[in-house]
This record gives sequence, C-alpha cells and structure tokens, in this order.
Amino acid sequence: MNKQILLKSRPLGKPTAENFTITDAPAVSAKEGELVVKAKYISVDPYMRGRMSDAKSYIPPFEIDKAIEGGIVAVVTESRHPDFKIGDAVYASLQWKEVQVVAAGKVTKLDKNIAPLSYYLGILGMPGLTAYFGLLDIGKPLAGQTVVVSGAAGAVGIVVGQIARIKGCRVVGIAGSDEKNAYLSDELKFDAVINYHTTADMKEAIAKACPNGVDVYFDNVGGTISDAVIANINKGARIILCGQISTYNDMKALFGLRPQTTLLKKSALMQGFIVSNYASRFPEGVKQLSLWLGERKLSYHETIIQGFERLPEAFIGLFEGKNTGKSLVEIV
Ligand code: NAP
Repeated sequence: MNKQILLKSRPLGKPTAENFTITDAPAVSAKEGELVVKAKYISVDPYMRGRMSDAKSYIPPFEIDKAIEGGIVAVVTESRHPDFKIGDAVYASLQWKEVQVVAAGKVTKLDKNIAPLSYYLGILGMPGLTAYFGLLDIGKPLAGQTVVVSGAAGAVGIVVGQIARIKGCRVVGIAGSDEKNAYLSDELKFDAVINYHTTADMKEAIAKACPNGVDVYFDNVGGTISDAVIANINKGARIILCGQISTYNDMKALFGLRPQTTLLKKSALMQGFIVSNYASRFPEGVKQLSLWLGERKLSYHETIIQGFERLPEAFIGLFEGKNTGKSLVEIV
C-alpha cells in the first residue's frame, strides 16, 4: 500500500489534524531518467505553515487536495538512471508520499559514511545551513561578544548557539521549557538560558544574562521575545531575522514596538534572509559543519516520531514546543 498526505484545508490559526487528510496513492514505476524512491525520514519545518496559507510569499502555497511537499531522505527502490542503484540514499524536496517517482536530476545522493542519513534533514541540511550562513554571514560574531538566540533548543537554534561558542562568544539561549534549557546548559554549554514561559520580565532577564549587552541576536521567533532582546542591544549590534514562529498562526495584522529608533541610536543592523540565498555556497557550509561534527565541536539532537501517518502530529508539535533539536518522522 502507498499512502499520501494532502492539505485538506488552509489552517485558521494553529494547524489542526483536520487540515490534513491521508489517502491511498497509486502504485508507481520509473521511466527513463527517473527513480522510484521510498521515504525513510520526512522533515517537518515551521516554514511549511507559510505554504499552507495562500498569501504571496517567496515560495508558492501548497494546493488544496494536493500532497504536501518538503525535505525527504529516501531510498531508491527502482532506478532508470545510470548514476543511481537500488539502495542508494537520496535527499530531495518531495511529496508526503511513502513511495513516489522523481527525476534523477532532482535528487542529491547522500553518503551514509559521513553522518546518519537523518542528519541531512537537520544539521547537515537546511536548518544547519540556515544557522551557519545566518550567524556567520550576517551576524559576524567576534570572540568575546554576546550572542543571543531565540528558539534556542530547536533545529536551527542548537546549531547557532554551538557555532557561536566555537567562535568564542558568550551564548545566551531563550527556549520554552526548563528541560530544553537544561539540555542547552548541560550538554551544549550555553553560558545562560532563559525560559520565556516562566519569566515575567524578559527585558530584565536578558539584561541580567547579558551583562555586557547583546552584540548579535539570532531571531527565530519574533514577537515580544524579540522586543525584549532588541531593548538590550549594543552599539553596532547585528540582528539576524531568521524566523518569526511566534506569529505564524496569527490571524490579524500585528502591532508591536517599532525597533527603528533603537536601531538608529545603536547604529545596528537588522537583516532578513532565506537560506536559499546561499545555495551556491551550500557545499562550503556542509563541509564545515561535517568537520565540526567529526571533531565533536558540534553535538546534535533529534526528536524522531515513527509512522508516516503521524506527520501532521509532528508538524503541529512545532507550534507546541514538542521538539528538542530537529523534528522528523521516520517511516518504518
Ligand atoms: P524548531 O525551533 O526546531 O521548532 C519550532 C520551535 O519553535 C518549537 O519547538 C518551540 O520551541 C518554538 N516556538 C513555537 N511556538 C513559539 C512561540 N509562539 N513563541 C516562541 N517560540 C515558539 O524550528 P526550526 O526549524 O529550528 O526553525 C526555527 C525558526 O527559523 C522558525 O521561525 C523557522 O521558520 C525559521 N527558519 C528560517 C529559515 C530561513 O531560511 N530564514 C530556514 C529555517 C528555519 P519552545 O519550546 O522554545 O517554544
């Protein structure tokens, strides 16, 4: 049996199980130049929430009654291309189907000897590259400076904080539970952590955790958490706008503090980016992240749920703080 998961309706607010439907998909076979691949790990990522809305964005919306698409690590089960054989592991942006056909030119062959296959959806994939290029290219952290990261215990955040430590920075993480923060402090050696759910005055907590002020802020969440960090920036600070997950389910236009005066007075930079801006430099990023992994300068964590039909649950869990590190579904 081949299953697929379709977008049944566009979420109003936080996505629910009712926004998805699971159906049978037809059996498939490959034509010349194509592969049949079987999904092994499927990534759930916050940006997919944007694609569930029909608002204009940098990437087209998902279509109603069509399969959701996203990053997938899969195994070749039939090959009609000379560069691929049965059993090869590949990465591609594919549909949420257990088995599907893909043009060989659209997949990247993966090396199981460098890292476990699931890492290519996380630390050696899109989230790891987001952390690497966002922090180093926009944040430009210098040894001794203070780097604050929100969404600190997530797929991007854990890599940001560790790279900042490699660069000799003081690292402060903001995350949503004491368990996550214990992981950041004990395992990843963050210098200070803040639980935004249990902290009444975030501005004061950040000031305390950053006695020399904030030089670099890697913003994964936006909203009032970011307002509080920006209130503590130093002259010449760099603010990396990576994500705004705290607002993705909002139904109304948002009003909040306007940061322009602070940015002006502090001669600070605030820059948004999309990781695909760096596509031509991905090999450089993968090489450096692999080296740091091999040298044990980077450690890694995944939250893996098993079972294709649990993809919607894993996706919704991103908005409930269910994951530590990269959230994935393993197809068993
Ligand atoms: P993630 O952090 O692994 O998962 C999402 C986490 O966000 C949750 O575990 C939760 O952690 C936190 N969160 C959920 N709702 C929140 C809220 N209302 N307020 C504060 N925190 C909330 O996801 P990721 O893949 O690493 O992505 C992190 C951010 O980067 C997202 O905003 C994503 O859209 C963005 N991103 C951008 C790019 C790019 O190219 N610009 C690429 C990848 C990712 P807590 O328990 O801490 O709340």
